[in-house]
Amino acid sequence: MGLWGVGGERARQLARLEIRTVEDLLLHRPRRYEDRRHFRSISQLTKEEPATARGTIIACGLKRFRGGSKSVFEIILDDGSARLHCRWWNLPFMQNYFAMGDEVFVYGRLIETKPRTIDHPETEVSEGGEEGFIHINRLTPVYPLTEGLPQRWLRGLIWRTLDKFERHIAEPDFGARVSSPAARPNPTGAPRLAKLPAITEAAAAEDSHASLPTRANAIHMIHFPEELTDVEIARQRLALDEFVDLQLQIQRRRKNFESRVQALPCGGDNRLMKPFLLKLGFKLTGAQARVLREIRTDLGGAHPMRRLLQGDVGSGKTAVAACTALMALESGFNVALMAPTEILAEQHFRNFEPWLEPLGIRVELQTGSRKTSNVQHPTSNIQSPDDHASRITHHGTLFIGTHALLTSGFDIPNLGLVIIDEQHKFGVAQREQLVRKGRYPHLLVMTATPIPRTLGLTLYGDLDVSVIDELPGGRGRIKTFVRTADPAGAGPKVWAFIRKQLAAGRQAYVVYPRVEDSGAKGLKAVTGEFDHLKAALAPFHAGLLHGRLKSREKEEVMAAFRANAVSVLLATSLIEVGVDVPNATVMLVENAEQFGLAQLHQLRGRIGRGAHESYCILISAAKTREADGRLKVLEETNDGFRIAEADLKLRGPGELLGREQSGLPAFRFGSLVDDLDLIRRARELAAQITSVSPGARIIGRM
Ligand code: ADP
Ligand code: MG
Repeated sequence: MGLWGVGGERARQLARLEIRTVEDLLLHRPRRYEDRRHFRSISQLTKEEPATARGTIIACGLKRFRGGSKSVFEIILDDGSARLHCRWWNLPFMQNYFAMGDEVFVYGRLIETKPRTIDHPETEVSEGGEEGFIHINRLTPVYPLTEGLPQRWLRGLIWRTLDKFERHIAEPDFGARVSSPAARPNPTGAPRLAKLPAITEAAAAEDSHASLPTRANAIHMIHFPEELTDVEIARQRLALDEFVDLQLQIQRRRKNFESRVQALPCGGDNRLMKPFLLKLGFKLTGAQARVLREIRTDLGGAHPMRRLLQGDVGSGKTAVAACTALMALESGFNVALMAPTEILAEQHFRNFEPWLEPLGIRVELQTGSRKTSNVQHPTSNIQSPDDHASRITHHGTLFIGTHALLTSGFDIPNLGLVIIDEQHKFGVAQREQLVRKGRYPHLLVMTATPIPRTLGLTLYGDLDVSVIDELPGGRGRIKTFVRTADPAGAGPKVWAFIRKQLAAGRQAYVVYPRVEDSGAKGLKAVTGEFDHLKAALAPFHAGLLHGRLKSREKEEVMAAFRANAVSVLLATSLIEVGVDVPNATVMLVENAEQFGLAQLHQLRGRIGRGAHESYCILISAAKTREADGRLKVLEETNDGFRIAEADLKLRGPGELLGREQSGLPAFRFGSLVDDLDLIRRARELAAQITSVSPGARIIGRM
């Protein structure tokens, strides 16, 4: 529905706030609320806490200085208790909004007490009259604005629009299941919008299934609450609606997918798996075995597998990936395994080739810079089907590459399974693009880091979840220390400690942020750091690894480190994901405050992979206690799920995901940080609506 009674300039201003319809307007969320039932007297205003006062303008004027290039506009308010100076610097047009004798509401905190002064306060000139009850004597909403759009005008528009449309706001399908009859809007009474029963906080906090107001009631309360506690209750209701919308989309897409698509039979028959497990050199953990049973059921099932495999760093996802690949290979299909970086693709290749070639399976590496296959690929990476047909052995081939493997037009015939060893940031759209090749292969997505549950249910909501919640035994412990930097980073004690480890035959990583994104300057910094490191650790050999090296150079450095010809690897966060050198026992991170917690946890996951005790040393150059406190989480816990959730709380989902990439909608009311209960509830409601039972397919802790 178009916005009624709004035209021209105002409509353009609203459009800048993404408000184009009545619904957009009614869902425009107040930024905060001002208690205009109880004004502070001017004499009670403080420097500490912002508050609302009101007063009458007894003087105003504009002063220009610096030859007219600078200005300050000032008004002086009096409320009988004291006077208040309000100043606006270099905004001379402010003088158009105020006149002597106006009554003004002011929100802000004092910058000076003698005289009492607020710079750039939020203000509103009272117009009195019959609109009075909208703007004062209540908890008054304060909205996000855009240039030229007055607060008071927008509030009035929302009030009138609500008055006209509130009774037409439809309750969604699931409304009867969530809303409380006690909270229905007042049918009569003038002014109709002024009175609503307040809902107690206790009712909302009771449990996640407490009843919520109707949608209409919630929209009313978000704008004109009786009490501040109503605002949160209303927010929850509107957030729930957003989450149900999303879950409905997810579940309908999935249902539609399952009704259209037939699965390829990839369950396998164990003839390769048995010898593989015998030669593996370790016994699968209980968690690995359980996850493999879940996967086998999928691969032999009626619908293509869409499964997310979560497991903390070092929990052994690679072995699970190998067994999954074997099931499809046993069934005569080809398999694609994709990693986020070339280094990881190569590492997977090095792991998988000796595992699978003895079983008669061909393993091929396909990256931008390297192709190991003995078949001559055209440079375009596109092969003729005949070429393939001649190579496909009875068991099929495992293709390993980066994510470009399937997006670059490289076509794998007879593809039964795609395994994505992915970073967090890979969205639904890209996933779909990858597997929408010919017939629908099964899909296993492995996350490099544990995913907070809210994201698991939304960003990955279209996937079933398996969790490896157990680490293999026989691992050395990891001790983590946060240290404050000397001016030059890690101090002599730290270097002495590392030398001791090296002398005992162990190896170390030293990680340094930046470089990748700061061009020549960053490169110079890391090269300087490298010289410093070599001097500090001589005669032990050090290697340097960063993203600006050529692929071959990177590989050489990694090979030397793996062979212990190089004891210390100075690297950028490039090594964050997946690199596996069990003899490395020290992870030193310089400028650790610049990394996210999940990222640091990944880095720490590079050590503690062998039997030796390992040490993670985080050097923080942070000046704030906040950043140090953040790092302490890593000292306290090794649990990736806890860390991921702390990270989400601290950094927010936007930073964690990259909104555009994630494919998630921007929620007006929902929070991916705090609303786990609502998201779960939305998932159940959506399942009732689409009549897909969530419990039946969701396995694990999600
Ligand atoms: P991640 O889950 O981080 O990808 P990896 O698959 O790289 O972990 O496994 C970490 C290390 O643990 C590897 O060296 C791997 O060989 C070893 N590993 C995996 N599963 C087991 C197991 N069941 N018992 C002992 N070691 C294992
Ligand atoms: Mg891994």
